[in-house]
Amino acid sequence: MEQRRSKQLFNRAQQLIPGGVNSPVRAFRAVGRQPFFVERAQGPWLFDADGNRYLDYVCSWGPGILGHAHPRVVEAVQRACTGGLSFGAPTAGEVELAERISACVPDVEMMRLVSSGTEAVMSAVRVARGFTGRDKIIKFSGNYHGHSDGLLVKAGSGLMTQSVPDSAGVPAGYAVCTLTAVYNDTESVRRLMEENAGQVAAVVVEPVAANMGVVPPKPGFLAFLRQITQQTGALLIFDEVITGFRLALGGASEYTGVHADLYTFGKIVGGGMPLAAYGGRRDVMACVAPLGAVYQAGTLSGNPVAVTAGIETLKILMEDKGIYERIDRRAERLEAAFCRKGLTVNRAGSLLSAFFTPDWGEREGSVTNYEEACQCDREAFAAYFNRMLERGIYVAPSQFEAMFVSDAHEDELIERTCEAIGKSVS
Ligand SMILES: *Cc1c(COP(=O)(O)O)cnc(C)c1O
Repeated sequence: MEQRRSKQLFNRAQQLIPGGVNSPVRAFRAVGRQPFFVERAQGPWLFDADGNRYLDYVCSWGPGILGHAHPRVVEAVQRACTGGLSFGAPTAGEVELAERISACVPDVEMMRLVSSGTEAVMSAVRVARGFTGRDKIIKFSGNYHGHSDGLLVKAGSGLMTQSVPDSAGVPAGYAVCTLTAVYNDTESVRRLMEENAGQVAAVVVEPVAANMGVVPPKPGFLAFLRQITQQTGALLIFDEVITGFRLALGGASEYTGVHADLYTFGKIVGGGMPLAAYGGRRDVMACVAPLGAVYQAGTLSGNPVAVTAGIETLKILMEDKGIYERIDRRAERLEAAFCRKGLTVNRAGSLLSAFFTPDWGEREGSVTNYEEACQCDREAFAAYFNRMLERGIYVAPSQFEAMFVSDAHEDELIERTCEAIGKSVS
């Protein structure tokens, strides 16, 4: 596969942009090759700077549930652009998008639009702290909530109960307020709640984890989080930046039946534009300025072009009742294609991950938390990634990312992918 122009662009990029990319996973370091540069995308296809075509299962890391450049979304955005790119004043579109989000996820009684998932989660945590008057939060190892200081914190090693920063430049002081528990381990949450009685403002969780590969919640795990937060006066925050409008129109609360106090959305809700949202209980969101004392603002918040992309995307999802059934069924077909000894496949709706677990014996079939995800064979994953790419199929360049199925991945393309999987994992 010729990637000459991509190589040239990557060399130029590395002169000016750290690692040549504007978000680290794009550098392809985990799979030992250089990234291709995208020229354009249409439906399920990406086209690179050298004219190669790839069947895309990254879908912009989640937003592309309709495939790339859906004609209705593109047309709506073009129309919006003509009317001006940014006003810093309220628009009817913001009201319509808020009404649509609330119609899909009724728990979101009030919300704010922001520009990234990072901003949404950071703001939701601030609101939880403002509402409860408490400082600490509990998060889970392997859950990703964007790159704000307070959430770039990981569990300390071994028997240490203290969290530590997960990035240089994050003051150790942040780790004091961010406690880390083990995903799917109720006891680890109970212990932190007891040790920090009366101090925990919120438990923030990916209701279906999708940033350590896909790791679904065990039965009862989310219900336990609901119960213990209610008992201790903490809020439950579902970070649905990936799962929102993905697992179902109503996201994780519809998919799992468990309801949170606050929700964060991103990715799909912006239809491919920089837009995210956080919201939930009316009494909690009433803390946000100018109604309340929690400050949060944004020059580009509710940007009219981004809002238009979000509205049109949600419109299509709300109109087309068959879409979730279709994408889930296609993901199920891919799941079946991965099924073999030495692989552990986790799937939730149209999100799936194949973990390379070659020598796991009895334990095979069980990746339930970050520690287990980390034990997978990343070299085997890299080999699989490269074989898929040589066959023109682009899956996420890391064992710790999900495979996203879109409505543009028609059945015939899914079958072609299944064949490639068979040849690439054996
Ligand atoms: C992508 C993601 C974020 C961060 O969103 P950005 O728009 O990249 O800042 C937060 N939480 C989850 C669960 C995500 O998947």
